[in-house]
Amino acid sequence: MDRIETETLSPDETGIARAVAIWRKGGLVAFPTETVYGLGADACNGAAVARIFAAKNRPAFNPLIIHVADLASARRFAHFSDVAERLAAAFWPGPLSLVLPVRKGAWLSPLVTAGLDSVAVRVPQTPLARALLAAFGGAIAAPSANPSGTISPTTAAHVLQGLAGRIDAVMDGGAAQVGLESTIVHPDLLPPALLRPGGLPAEAIEAVLGCTLQIATNAEKPLSPGQLLSHYAPKSRLRLDQATPPDGWFWLGFGRICKGADLNLSASGDLVEAAANLFAMLHKADDIARRDGLAGIAIAPVPDHGLGAAINDRLARAAAEKI
Ligand code: AMP
Ligand code: MG
Repeated sequence: MDRIETETLSPDETGIARAVAIWRKGGLVAFPTETVYGLGADACNGAAVARIFAAKNRPAFNPLIIHVADLASARRFAHFSDVAERLAAAFWPGPLSLVLPVRKGAWLSPLVTAGLDSVAVRVPQTPLARALLAAFGGAIAAPSANPSGTISPTTAAHVLQGLAGRIDAVMDGGAAQVGLESTIVHPDLLPPALLRPGGLPAEAIEAVLGCTLQIATNAEKPLSPGQLLSHYAPKSRLRLDQATPPDGWFWLGFGRICKGADLNLSASGDLVEAAANLFAMLHKADDIARRDGLAGIAIAPVPDHGLGAAINDRLARAAAEKI
């Protein structure tokens, strides 16, 4: 990754306007919430979301939580059941993320949901975070603003220690009060499930629901296929590492050498662009391969450095799910 200049933004009108301008251009701004500092990007811009994974060096495309200014904005991106409404009314704004069905036409990047048909949403509590989100007007995808595998940041200085030179800006809003990630709940199961313990105690949620949460925690991975939500894998057969495609296969290329590919993840060999295209192109390749009765999808080799590692992880899983 090329080193970029990381600006420090002040927690005022000027800083907010600058953060919004960076987000609109597809850049990355770390910002304080009551839980920890989040690394935010426009959730509807695939290349911007891909940059989050690149900056954090995340080895896999696990789904991200979207942050919105209020419940009305959340409804533009997700469907709320009665139980979801009750939890939102009781705990938003606050450190609770709800996993909800994605609304069709929400235009979220598939990288945000890792290709799932559910999305995790929350409304953060601090006036600064809400002012930022209201000024942006859309959804900001944000995991914690630290390199993958390191401790979550609760100050702007922590963010800079880990990510200076890799992100466009950090807004300095002082220390995060909660210092723990949000609690993640899937409200639409019977009983509703706790997916990750966090800043909001499970007991408080159970008191509102009037029942005990089932425990389905797996902090680093979305629920496994077949358990609750099915992870996206094409229905067609997949072959990886195909520098030249077999006859009768759809060819999904990568880089300049794949002349004549049916689709190319990135003709210029840009891994950020490839990540942004990955889920949508797999869908399209699958549709075409099945429509035209092709043998399957042959995928060109993708280098394993930077975002390539996460791309290859996802491709390997998609291929394994076929066996
Ligand atoms: P982080 O971005 O590090 O706070 O982690 C977000 C976590 O939220 C993921 O690792 C998942 O465990 C969970 N998550 C986000 N979106 C979903 C979803 N659509 N379904 C299930 N779990 C999700
Ligand atoms: Mg994290």
